[in-house]
Amino acid sequence: MPINREMLRSMNISEDHYIGGKRIASTDRFEVRSPLDWSEPIANMARGTAEDADRAVSAARQAFPEWASLSAAERGTYLRRLADLIERNTDRIAETECLDVGLLLRSLKARLVNRGAHNFRYYAELAENYEERTWSSKGTVNRVMRMPAGPAVIITPWNAPFMLSTWKTAPALAAGCTVVLKPPEWAPLSCSILASLADEAGLPPGVFNVIQGIGEEVGAALVRHPDVRRIGFTGSPETGRFIAHAGAGNLVPITAELGGKGPFLVFEDCDIEAAAEKAALQYDDAGQVCLAGTRLLVQKSIYDNFASAFFKYTDAHVLGDSREDHTTVAPLIHPDHLQRVEGFVERARANGDKIVRGGHRTSIGGLWYEPTLIEPKSNESEIVQNEVFGPVLTIQTFENEEEAIALANSTKYGLSAIIYTASAERAERVGRAVRAGTVWTNCFLVRDLSAPFGGTGISGIGREGGDYALDFYSDLKTFQVKEGTTE
Ligand code: NAD
Repeated sequence: MPINREMLRSMNISEDHYIGGKRIASTDRFEVRSPLDWSEPIANMARGTAEDADRAVSAARQAFPEWASLSAAERGTYLRRLADLIERNTDRIAETECLDVGLLLRSLKARLVNRGAHNFRYYAELAENYEERTWSSKGTVNRVMRMPAGPAVIITPWNAPFMLSTWKTAPALAAGCTVVLKPPEWAPLSCSILASLADEAGLPPGVFNVIQGIGEEVGAALVRHPDVRRIGFTGSPETGRFIAHAGAGNLVPITAELGGKGPFLVFEDCDIEAAAEKAALQYDDAGQVCLAGTRLLVQKSIYDNFASAFFKYTDAHVLGDSREDHTTVAPLIHPDHLQRVEGFVERARANGDKIVRGGHRTSIGGLWYEPTLIEPKSNESEIVQNEVFGPVLTIQTFENEEEAIALANSTKYGLSAIIYTASAERAERVGRAVRAGTVWTNCFLVRDLSAPFGGTGISGIGREGGDYALDFYSDLKTFQVKEGTTE
């Protein structure tokens, strides 16, 4: 699908790093292409080196004492200014991310970019309103102080780079850390816009830095850097392991928000139509969503009714140009990723798993893949056990609640789960029993920023969201004064 490269050029998005308040190039560059039109690059970004990583961390280290010494309200003024600028630039950011990642333009405009602005406003307010816990014991007054931890490195994946980068950067800055952000190399452009907006918002040089490049190169150098005090990571479990090792090397706390293989449990007492409609939405953004409920687990007694309602919705999907309003399924981000998704389906076919729907590239060519539904031969099939991160769901049946829970908990992941039932008691029982950081009942993707967010098993380490994130980006200090000794 032809894209307007002139329009992109007219947006003047810098291809360089943003370090210490300045745009800085690297000798090497890497190409970025659009999943909507792979024919020519849309950008040639600076390819950061270990030296660049060192430069960025030093800028963050130098800026840290002054930023940390500001009150939360003073930092909040900068963050709110940045939120205003994000809102004013919604179209520019959404159009860029649509070309860079292929995400649907209407959802970028309606949800993801606004959420970026909201992340900054929300954390500005939360940090300002922090009340130090204070209590008396053993003749002393005790207080819990949040001390800014130091320079933080934040590394984000390609599936929603703007939203995820702001989700981690906002609490870090609000808590008084300075930040070096490393955006994903497959989709680096919206974070370059974020750097320009931070500059326009007047953030002091070095408080927020963006360094572009390849994960194994500049990313690895950043997480190993001895001056880094926190690492906030979102990405795959494989990279998460590497990040955890790197953090351990310097005894630096990390959070890791990793992959998912969420169960979507459909009980016989539920609103089948509502469940089927939501299940069909799991193909949104071509299934490149960590929280997606990719394993449909349906009670046997309603399987036929559920399946026919589900197909009614999935058959209405429109694959096509992510900029068009009527498109519902986006392309995959990269030919390598398309091949990876295809590999999963081919191996499932060879394994004897039944391809119920889809299972091929589409007739429109490019990087689109058919929404695919697979009935696995057994629960041990690779297609059930491993994250595909594409438009591929599996469907299995269960007889009763016990079996449903056993199937739900049968993978190594534990990021999210979705339950459809009309029974509050069942929701409570199953919700407690499933292994997941977030459980949605009769809904999906409703997010309240004050809730803890993260995964168990290989889906993650630690929690972000609300006060959990502000605690993570702080060193908590216990401050005690002997009662009656000060006035
Ligand atoms: P990835 O792990 O390949 O890359 C993520 C980021 O890590 C990129 O910026 C990459 O450059 C960087 N990186 C890669 N190797 C590195 C290294 N050795 N050192 C430092 N940085 C390195 O993941 P991806 O393919 O970009 O994203 C898809 C994965 O992210 C999926 O597993 C998905 O489920 C997960 N994800 C999780 C969440 C969540 O909130 N739990 C959200 C979105 C995506």
